[in-house]
Amino acid sequence: MKYVGAHVSAEGGVHNAPLNAHRIGAKAFALFTKNQRQWFAPPLSEEVIKLFRQNCETLGYKSFQILAHDSYLINLGHSEKEALEKSRKSFLEEFKRCELLGLDRLNFHPGSHLNLTGEEDCLKIIAESINITLEKTRGVTAVIENTAGQGTNVGYKFEQIRYIIELIEDKTRVGVCFDTCHAYAAGYNIKDAKGFMETFKLFDEIIGINFLRGLHINDSKKEYASRVDRHENLGKGFLGEEVFKLIMNDSRFDNIPIILETPDESLWEEEIRKLYSYVK
Ligand SMILES: [Zn+2]
Ligand SMILES: [Zn+2]
Repeated sequence: MKYVGAHVSAEGGVHNAPLNAHRIGAKAFALFTKNQRQWFAPPLSEEVIKLFRQNCETLGYKSFQILAHDSYLINLGHSEKEALEKSRKSFLEEFKRCELLGLDRLNFHPGSHLNLTGEEDCLKIIAESINITLEKTRGVTAVIENTAGQGTNVGYKFEQIRYIIELIEDKTRVGVCFDTCHAYAAGYNIKDAKGFMETFKLFDEIIGINFLRGLHINDSKKEYASRVDRHENLGKGFLGEEVFKLIMNDSRFDNIPIILETPDESLWEEEIRKLYSYVK
């Protein structure tokens, strides 16, 4: 079974996210559990937690259908002590919020070395950040997203993600979110059936398909291997529609949140409907 949805707004409180998802016919959703442009937020109130859980229950969203996303400010691979501490503190808070909301996975971009260190050191710092956080929390899986490799972001190669996972102490609480736009921009040619099969064969060999905890489905505004992260609505970018048809007919993507992060949200309802129409 496929669970397709979108990264919906949580404006006015996280309890609004399931309502917004339901409104567009989503069977899954992603959300920020706080303002993504702020480091820290006031704690979630009992009332909001209760409403969120209630709305999810009423509308049929279980935790495996929900993929929380952390703040874009966080850099778990920062090599400077103070900046790293701030990121780790904020990341821990994100985890705690997920715990309170009953969510089982938190999706994040691994980090950037900012030319202060190399890629390998950055990956080591990220793994240490994840280990520290997992030790202080329970029940929430750290879901590493592959990146486009823009700027000094790491995580654009499967080998880099594997490197992080290898260093994680509790492997039952680490996973991966595959973003189609990022993969294509990073140089994985998933545009047609041949490239798609090859890419996921590699993913399985290098990372392991069992680590997959979510999918971000976005077309790309930038060309293949551009290393630029610019999402586009489905079928309107360089990726085209073939890859999304392949995803919808591949059982490896069953029972995980499949999330649209496409820029024009007025098209989400239609995109979700279209994706389900691809199922043969
Ligand atoms: Zn993404
Ligand atoms: Zn992106």
